[in-house]
Amino acid sequence: MDALTLTDRLTATIDDKRDDLIALTQDLIRIPTLNPPGENYREICDYLANRLSGKGFQIELVRAEGSPGDSDRYPRWNVVARREGAEPGECVHFNSHIDVVDVGRGWTKDPFGGELEDGKVYGRGACDMKGGLAASIIAAEAFIECCPDFRGAIEISGTADEESGGFGGVAYLAQKGFFAPERVQHVIIPEPLNKDRICLGHRGVWWAEIETYGEIAHGSMPFLGDCAVRHMGAVLDEMESSLFPALAAKRTDMPVVPEGAKQSTLNINSIHGGQSEIVRPETGLPSPVVPDSCRMVIDRRFLIEENIDEVQHEITSILDGLKQTRERFDYGIREMHRVLPTMTEKDAPVVTTVTEAIRATLGTEPSYVVSPGTYDQKHIDRIGKLKNCIAYGPGILDLAHKPDEYVGVDDMVDSAKVMGLSLLTLLGPRD
Ligand SMILES: [Zn+2]
Repeated sequence: MDALTLTDRLTATIDDKRDDLIALTQDLIRIPTLNPPGENYREICDYLANRLSGKGFQIELVRAEGSPGDSDRYPRWNVVARREGAEPGECVHFNSHIDVVDVGRGWTKDPFGGELEDGKVYGRGACDMKGGLAASIIAAEAFIECCPDFRGAIEISGTADEESGGFGGVAYLAQKGFFAPERVQHVIIPEPLNKDRICLGHRGVWWAEIETYGEIAHGSMPFLGDCAVRHMGAVLDEMESSLFPALAAKRTDMPVVPEGAKQSTLNINSIHGGQSEIVRPETGLPSPVVPDSCRMVIDRRFLIEENIDEVQHEITSILDGLKQTRERFDYGIREMHRVLPTMTEKDAPVVTTVTEAIRATLGTEPSYVVSPGTYDQKHIDRIGKLKNCIAYGPGILDLAHKPDEYVGVDDMVDSAKVMGLSLLTLLGPRD
């Protein structure tokens, strides 16, 4: 059978599975895997294990014991399913996170109902990213049916906690060797990036807590103390006058979307100074005290052109400068989290393969994007040391985490075809 026929047969098989794809997406949405706290991970892993073992996949259920958030009440379960082909070859891995974020207000649909209306499946996680997970499963199943003697192996994983950093999910699996380059060669993460876009990577993250110190005193005689909040105000002034303009002037060549994220950014995540805002029930007032501590959490997103030392130095130089010029100014700084930027090369095999599959399926040129925030690719890159990784999947990114989140059925079918054709290229018969 020639390659053209096989391609046609594969796309027709995926079209035939349209109802199955809808039902699978609905089933996944109806298991409420809210994170926090990390509910029903075992249930959804069992569901996936049951389905995929029926299609010849070997199943491993992995609890990320000891990871942040893991407890007997909310165990961090992950599932990794692997289907060996008929002869040796490379392994293509589809990784999807199984957790969804809080429902929030403003829904007109049942967030866990999986309602189908006008070609859209609604629910929390529909687009981010149970629709992508379902599309990758249908792609793999259709490929196996059309090409039972394929080379290499297919893996499908459902992983915990992406929405809270992925430490109980992909990071844990990567530490255990599940993404080692000798085991897995290509990774596709079906996050909702739109069916004609390939996401190559993400910007870097540096979270830190800055603390300014003062001296406690009676609020009626602040001159006897030293106000830590005013010191923090001086830090904010410096940030406004020098740091924010400097960050806005830095531009990246990474194709980051949206446009505003092509520059370096800083979010002031929180500031807290002095005693807690809770008023004392006896007086209805807080007690009058000069604050001796003020803490600010910053969330700095940086570009592949910047290095982390430079990012840190921008902050510490402001603080050290104030120490020189401002009386009694003193500070502490604590790093909370860091992720280096990552970007897969455009000529990496997984990128060129999916590019061709998008052209063949949609008849358009894909666009290449980089995510403003991180996702599980960070762990595959840093811990797993695997560079040949992209995010590609159905759904509109802007709908993620919103009320009345949905995924379009046509988009899921199209992206399943792209994923199926990619399997055909990477694992199908050599022509
Ligand atoms: Zn996601």
